[in-house]
Amino acid sequence: MIIKLGGSVITDKKRAFKANLRSIRRIARELAKREERLVLLNGAGSFGHIPVKRHRLDEGFSLQKTNSFVRTKLQLLKLQEILVSILCNHGVPVVPFAPSSFMTARSGKLYRVDLDPLRRFLNMGLVPLLGGDLIPDLNKGWSVVSADQMASWIAPRVGASMIIYGTDVAGLYSRDPKTADDAHLIGTVPCRNLRSVARAALGSRMPDVTRGMRGKILEAEKAAKRGVEVVIMDLTRPKNLHPILDGKRGKWTRILPDKRLLE
Ligand code: ADP
Repeated sequence: MIIKLGGSVITDKKRAFKANLRSIRRIARELAKREERLVLLNGAGSFGHIPVKRHRLDEGFSLQKTNSFVRTKLQLLKLQEILVSILCNHGVPVVPFAPSSFMTARSGKLYRVDLDPLRRFLNMGLVPLLGGDLIPDLNKGWSVVSADQMASWIAPRVGASMIIYGTDVAGLYSRDPKTADDAHLIGTVPCRNLRSVARAALGSRMPDVTRGMRGKILEAEKAAKRGVEVVIMDLTRPKNLHPILDGKRGKWTRILPDKRLLE
């Protein structure tokens, strides 16, 4: 199981470097009750997107930007420290990973990842934790790679059956539910219909360098094409995790891999 904690859940996206401690604690409490083998990913939220936009770090390496780059790295580390300390206090055996130490991108897309250390900790029953990051890039020097992208890369390669993208809305809606009162939640979408369903629906208002819900859907499609079911759900209500993990129905969006349709 891969669970991605959205930046909109664990941080206040409008305020730079502000973690949502209550929300992280609630999630930690629920995760501590589960026994699944788990990889946790975290969005950078306001610890990443705000400085990345401010200093245009998403354009890649430049010598003048190295100081801002390092300062942003420090903020990402601080967010990770907050997550590790809360999860650990609740009894979740997390192991922090630094994506820029074992991942390389090419033009913003993951290109090479050494998953061996992660697999080994996973096999020991520990819970690897990693987040959206600035990582080395063959063409740009460095690039921003989202935790959404990491999830869809890692899931099929560690044999995960499901990715849960936890965010601050109940799933994919017909329109942005924060701006359209008549938006309705899309329940189940077979992977092959995802593009047409999503085409009209998308747009994220906050300065999100990793493309908000649109990026999530593109990543969900990649994972589903490789046989992984993807769920998008509201993790500001982490009690939802139990019915999903227990195979029950509920108010969220499921993206079904094509494989399942043939069965
Ligand atoms: P996270 O930080 O949790 O990964 P994002 O902020 O990147 O999440 O994306 C989630 C946001 O996408 C929601 O808060 C919502 O306002 C916005 N959004 C835009 N269009 C849609 C849509 N059609 N359905 C659901 N959410 C949408």
